[in-house]
Amino acid sequence: SKFIVGLTGGIGSGKTTVANLFAAQGITLVDADIVARDVVAQGSVGLKAIEAHFGAEILTPEGELDRAKLRQQIFNHPDEREWLNQLLHPMIRAEMLAQVEKATSAYVIMVVPLLFENGLDRLVNRTLVVDISPELQVKRTVKRDNVDVSQVNNIINSQCSRSEKLAKADDVIDNQGEISSLKRQVLALHQHYLQLSGNDNA
Ligand code: ATP
Repeated sequence: SKFIVGLTGGIGSGKTTVANLFAAQGITLVDADIVARDVVAQGSVGLKAIEAHFGAEILTPEGELDRAKLRQQIFNHPDEREWLNQLLHPMIRAEMLAQVEKATSAYVIMVVPLLFENGLDRLVNRTLVVDISPELQVKRTVKRDNVDVSQVNNIINSQCSRSEKLAKADDVIDNQGEISSLKRQVLALHQHYLQLSGNDNA
């Protein structure tokens, strides 16, 4: 029964940057992307189930999950995609909650890129959206990843819209400005979350 803040935002919005600022205040991060990789790591129950379902061809020669092959298998096969989600989503949820319970910080930041899209907002006490315009999302992601504008736009369009995210957010960080402004906003929210989680003496 830890106080959980769900941190989300679109591609290139600054989730990682914000999460690291909370971590610098001693707050434990639970990262959905890392957990999603761990549940299909070599030797995991998740990977064994995937191998049993799709066959050993789904593995690389080294015995790891061949992600490109898995993408091929579920592309245009909604039933296979559904099977995979039914397998992995409960495992990911359970592992994230296990990490939350192990945490010793006053509250926990759960970093979940698709928090609203995957209904994980139901697991958290409060949602925090990192907000920037789609134009800045494109600019910062292209600069960071050296990818095409059209690729970034496709990802933006596959995610829940800026206005939907803002409507669902309990708290919003505006990341259109300087990092110094980001730091100020994180420090203020940190104090707020200490209060909400019943640790206002820090
Ligand atoms: P993704 O979902 O794509 O992994 P993200 O939401 O975690 O992205 P970050 O990686 O934190 O986003 O930020 C995207 C890029 O923008 C990074 O290169 C980061 O250094 C840069 N960035 C973040 N905030 C700012 C800012 N306020 N000013 C300038 N650059 C920034």
